[in-house]
Amino acid sequence: MKLVLIGSPGAGKGTQAKVLSKHFDIAHISTGDLLRNEINKKTELGLEIIAIMESGNLVSDEIVKKLLSKRITLSDCKNGFILDGYPRNIAQAQELDTVVGQIDKVIFMTVSDDTIIERMAGRRACPKCGQMFHIKYNPPKKDGICDVCGDSLIIRKDDDKDVVKNRLSIYHKETAPIIDYYKDKNLILQSDGIGEISTISKNLIDALEGAR
Ligand code: AMP
Repeated sequence: MKLVLIGSPGAGKGTQAKVLSKHFDIAHISTGDLLRNEINKKTELGLEIIAIMESGNLVSDEIVKKLLSKRITLSDCKNGFILDGYPRNIAQAQELDTVVGQIDKVIFMTVSDDTIIERMAGRRACPKCGQMFHIKYNPPKKDGICDVCGDSLIIRKDDDKDVVKNRLSIYHKETAPIIDYYKDKNLILQSDGIGEISTISKNLIDALEGAR
């Protein structure tokens, strides 16, 4: 099963990707996490991309493609994967077709820009394992501490309000055109990203089970 998740930054892609990855026993691949991992490890690549990521701009297609191509060869991808954050533009969508072949479904999560701006203000991230929380909608069990690995939670620099506005404008300009690309291929499964996390997951699982 090869799934793609598209939606504005903060639409809830990472949260839903984790649920779907567990349910269908497929790998969750977040290109944002792959890139952040390079920054955390202070690799040469990490140092090259840190300023780009913090400004909310896109990292070059070449760099992301390299990380992704390597990631999909790992054994946890044997049943398939769910891509969260890739593709981000038409060139990446075309590249994906050549790298992984036929995609089964593209989940398109819709959330208004105003809601995104409100949501991002409450987002907290674990710098160690990448788990995301929200102080109102998905709080950690212990204030400021990651439920998964116990590290202290942070506000990501790319969740800053001005950076979020930049990310939304890039999303509308670069990423949104991909929706028509996949509509033409009849692959889109639309999901309203507003509401209870568990209700959104259930609707997605039902629709994906039905499409199998
Ligand atoms: P995300 O965690 O998906 O919100 O991504 C965080 C940041 O990582 C983005 O704002 C980009 O700077 C970078 N990024 C993630 N995925 C991609 C991609 N497919 N192409 C280019 N840049 C990406």
